[in-house]
Amino acid sequence: MEGATSTGASCVCPSLGIQKSLSLDKNVAIFTAEAADLKLATEIASQNGNQPYMIWTDCLSIIQSLNQQNYSQHTNKYLRTTKETIINFNHNNAPNSITIAWIPAHRGIIDNEQADRISKEATKQEANRSEKLSVDDLNSTWKNQMWEDTNKHIQTEANLKRTLYFQTYYENKRKPWFHNKKLPRFTTSWVTRYRSNNYNLAASLARLQIKNSCDCECGVDYQDLNHIL
Ligand SMILES: [Zn+2]
Repeated sequence: MEGATSTGASCVCPSLGIQKSLSLDKNVAIFTAEAADLKLATEIASQNGNQPYMIWTDCLSIIQSLNQQNYSQHTNKYLRTTKETIINFNHNNAPNSITIAWIPAHRGIIDNEQADRISKEATKQEANRSEKLSVDDLNSTWKNQMWEDTNKHIQTEANLKRTLYFQTYYENKRKPWFHNKKLPRFTTSWVTRYRSNNYNLAASLARLQIKNSCDCECGVDYQDLNHIL
């Protein structure tokens, strides 16, 4: 969130009059924050005793992930804690149990709006340092950093190498020009080779010292793609 110090997670329990929030590192994925919401909710249930609990979330992907059978070391830790808490609660408090259900977001459901509000408040606090970041949460940060570093590097190199390509075609985009164009690989590599001035005509071959001169067989002294076409 723009201007936020951290990422907020929260939970509101109207029947017990409890509200909880948590400030996480601002680099955590949205999924992590949503999973942390559930962790807070299941904590309230396990701390407040034997009665049925209904937990509402507006995040469908969290519910789907909770229903998955295969948990591994890569499973989001808040999700794992939530699942463990639910299993333990249901085991120790049968026939009472924790049920998780979906509600639509931003439809004016009062308690959900309240949870959003206190999440937002939590983003103003420093992140709680005891809540560790996972590797997955850092993925997008790393990806962005790699993209920026690579771009800086190739733009510096462009002053010396492939100058024509960079002056003529280079675009700072994550997807190549042929993305979504459904062209055969032959075509895309052909065009890319010519754009980068690496092709099997004399002008290009002579530059790489594979041929002795740029001459064309017809007598013209520069055999490049313009000449042939
Ligand atoms: Zn010629």
